[in-house]
Amino acid sequence: MSESETELIVGIDLGTTNSLVGVVDSGFPILLADESGRRLLPSAVSFPEGGEPLVGEPALRNRSLLPKTTITSVKRLMGRRPAEVENEDLSYEIRSGSDGFAEVSIQDQFFRPEEISALILKRLKATAEAALEEPVKKAVITVPAYFNDGQRNATKRAGELAGLEVVRILNEPTAAALAYGLDKLGEQSRVAVFDLGGGTFDISLLELREGVFEVVATNGDTRLGGDDVDRALLSLLTEKLSLSDLSGEQSATLLEMARRAKEALSTEETFTVQLPFFQGDQSLTCEVSRDELERAAQPILDRVRKPCLRALADAKIGDAAEQLDQVILVGGSTRMPLVRRMVAEIFGQEPNTTQHPDEAVALGAAIQAGVLCGRVRQVVLLDVTPLSLGIETYGGLMNVILPRNTTIPAKAGELFTNPVANQEGMSIRVLQGEREMARDNWELGYFTLAFEPGPKGSARVGVQFEIDENGILKVLARDTKTNQDTVLKIENSAVDVEDEQVEAMISESVEHAFSDMNERIWTEAKMKSEEMLAALDMARAALGEALPEEEKATVLSAEKAVREALNTEPPDAQKLKQANQQLDEATEPLAALLVEKAMAQALEAQMTAPSAES
Ligand code: AMP
Repeated sequence: MSESETELIVGIDLGTTNSLVGVVDSGFPILLADESGRRLLPSAVSFPEGGEPLVGEPALRNRSLLPKTTITSVKRLMGRRPAEVENEDLSYEIRSGSDGFAEVSIQDQFFRPEEISALILKRLKATAEAALEEPVKKAVITVPAYFNDGQRNATKRAGELAGLEVVRILNEPTAAALAYGLDKLGEQSRVAVFDLGGGTFDISLLELREGVFEVVATNGDTRLGGDDVDRALLSLLTEKLSLSDLSGEQSATLLEMARRAKEALSTEETFTVQLPFFQGDQSLTCEVSRDELERAAQPILDRVRKPCLRALADAKIGDAAEQLDQVILVGGSTRMPLVRRMVAEIFGQEPNTTQHPDEAVALGAAIQAGVLCGRVRQVVLLDVTPLSLGIETYGGLMNVILPRNTTIPAKAGELFTNPVANQEGMSIRVLQGEREMARDNWELGYFTLAFEPGPKGSARVGVQFEIDENGILKVLARDTKTNQDTVLKIENSAVDVEDEQVEAMISESVEHAFSDMNERIWTEAKMKSEEMLAALDMARAALGEALPEEEKATVLSAEKAVREALNTEPPDAQKLKQANQQLDEATEPLAALLVEKAMAQALEAQMTAPSAES
């Protein structure tokens, strides 16, 4: 095998609606076309009865005839549970697999979303092999910035099922930045990447420093895109044509027509919808204007506003969005004039429209692939964690180890101990999210580290989080006494993400910031109370009558105040903190007496012990 064969790496944009493959050829990134000259491969797979699966355009053509066996938007199912996708408007059936993750159900067969994505990837691989006349074994695949570990792993698995080694999972907005050639901007440039595709919305703010890209903030909505506009237009068409009780097949035809109308209305003012033989031999027709489309789309597209403002706030750009050096557009839906107007309004400047928005991500993936196989000069890309990562600690609190927007690859750790005596191990719940209480965050995985039981605070467990350049997380827990390691591999089945979007997670954390913080302060204060009350019992047992009456009374009343505050309804964190402080002060003489007693005992032991020389 020649070196060029082993070194070839392609870049793939595995999109919700369309997918593309590219490569760097003679120093330039190019997209590869299939035998019909098409570069955009519809991300659709159809399963005709008794025949081989169809992929791309032929599959899409089957959608209106065979909606139940034609799979589109499968990216939305990747690494997710049925409950998390129940409000998706899917024309096909899904069920819960044996491990709880969504499976597509076709007649009597069941497919994992990654198995269907693998068919799309296989087609892209074949297209690339035919165009390049050499085998393709390695790929860079892009994913939305908000994909969690499970979704990234599922994408990687899809690649492997297609016979590809996935050498890098790259965030889509980061890839787009490369395609727009942002590395040619001046030092300290700041850019927004606005990516609205068929199924996902991402906004990323990048900064270029000393020739290095850094993603300083990301935000978005994993369930917002052109598909939603299609459905809004479908409702409008249903109303205009006074249709009711549509069959699955009719809905699919009308949805396809809605998409065509929407795309045409990006350049035309009006579009005539024609539905030949729609109801028996009756054909239907109606006119729809850009104005009508925009009125139907506005409430959906308004949902881009909040993530943009949050990303700007996270990047500390706030009200100064117009100071951004550029705003670039990515994703087919940014061809809509309404979207472009909204972007200009939100960012206070006209967006850069020099690239095809639906090809930018694939071109960027090709450039990154070119960098990895040495066909392009090195450009270092840095990504960030979209949400904080941490573990649950005593009292049900979230302990953040890698904060949100940490540049990856990243590694961080902390030392933990046993909060209670005689514990036989420590449960490590790996969490992702922005809420103060562990229960409100998403559980990514769980494992237990056993250690020798001992007094409170005797165990020493180091927990380390490491995210590689693909955004994949490895959690290592080490018992520092025995140096024994436990490593959590976060596979798809270990991912236990709740039915919430990342977008919802961030807005909930803002919404509940006050009550969350109060609960954290309350929980911390309560743990402190419990610790002090237990210590007090022990001190009393040790000291017996040694404490003067007056101090006994002060301690007793401070103790009573703490117990009272603990039982106050609703919980009053400030009151408990104050009571804790008073008890702390009241028990100071006790502590001094304990120390005195311990020293006296130690001295006595020394006097009676045999001397070393004797
Ligand atoms: P992508 O995920 O980037 O492939 O984008 C696909 C989405 O872009 C789909 O919802 C398409 O309907 C939409 N799209 C493609 N071309 C246009 C266009 N000319 N006007 C409006 N939307 C478009």
